[in-house]
Amino acid sequence: ATPISIMTATGRGAQSGVLVREAAALERLAAIDTLIVDKTGTLTEGKPRLTDVLVGPTFPENRLLMLAASLEKASEHPLAEAIVAGARARDVPLVAVSDFEAVNGKGVSGRVDGDRVLAGNAAMLLADVGVDTSAFAGHAEGLRQNGRTALYVAVNGELAGLLALADEIKINAAEAIRALHADGIRVVMATGDSAVTADAVAKALGIDDVAADQLPEDKKALVERLKAEGRVVAMAGDGINDAPALAAADVGIAMGTGADVALESAGITLLKGDLSGIVRARTLSKATLSNIR
Ligand code: ADP
Ligand code: MG
Repeated sequence: ATPISIMTATGRGAQSGVLVREAAALERLAAIDTLIVDKTGTLTEGKPRLTDVLVGPTFPENRLLMLAASLEKASEHPLAEAIVAGARARDVPLVAVSDFEAVNGKGVSGRVDGDRVLAGNAAMLLADVGVDTSAFAGHAEGLRQNGRTALYVAVNGELAGLLALADEIKINAAEAIRALHADGIRVVMATGDSAVTADAVAKALGIDDVAADQLPEDKKALVERLKAEGRVVAMAGDGINDAPALAAADVGIAMGTGADVALESAGITLLKGDLSGIVRARTLSKATLSNIR
């Protein structure tokens, strides 16, 4: 496209909440046939709420929440913030944490009140201390079927309990997905969350292609695999965990409400974190291209 038509489109985009950092990205957007979308913070609000605290018969519920929330206070993950807020709402006091460690896409660990505490998904618990999560697997399954995220908490190498969080689907996500489908775009959800939770959210949105339990490098590999199949791929995401995939895609689309690294890795930013911006950006992109013909 000519510089003028791109500038016009860029200006028009900004008015409707679509920020173009890289002009070529806007041009390529017209040619995409596949959109990979992150779940948490992109399809959902990314503002989870703590809904359930489950413990075994010998572990006090408030102690589990105290240990988990004290640990999560050191994490910047949206799930972590929800656990801290949940503890505050229940007047559970937080204490200091030492030896804190975060494993991207899996969970966190550290030392709290003399105990070694781990919070995260089954892979996190299994990898770190070989903790078997099957005692709570049935509960976790039921919660996940309702679209909730279930996290395990281990204390001193033993499974102590389960935390569940609910994250609302964004108000116009379903409509944006419908419009993209109608436009002939294949939509694939990629998430670090479990398959059952991911499927529940995907079903609510009419997405039938789901990749769950995805680490940041898995999301990137998914982008590369689809590109190798000859697809023209856009990736939309908001988090640090999405940055490698955003950079690898033909078009990287960051949610303006997300992490700085995500913004830096993307050619296009949706300022309000609203997916319908992709539909508007594509209209702009096509108009830009037709201007030069
Ligand atoms: P998404 O791709 O959906 O944005 P992430 O890659 O950020 O998700 O996280 C994937 C999974 O890793 C979460 O669903 C959770 O099970 C676990 N996890 C990540 N960070 C944390 C944390 N701070 N505390 C507990 N669990 C976490
Ligand atoms: Mg995310």
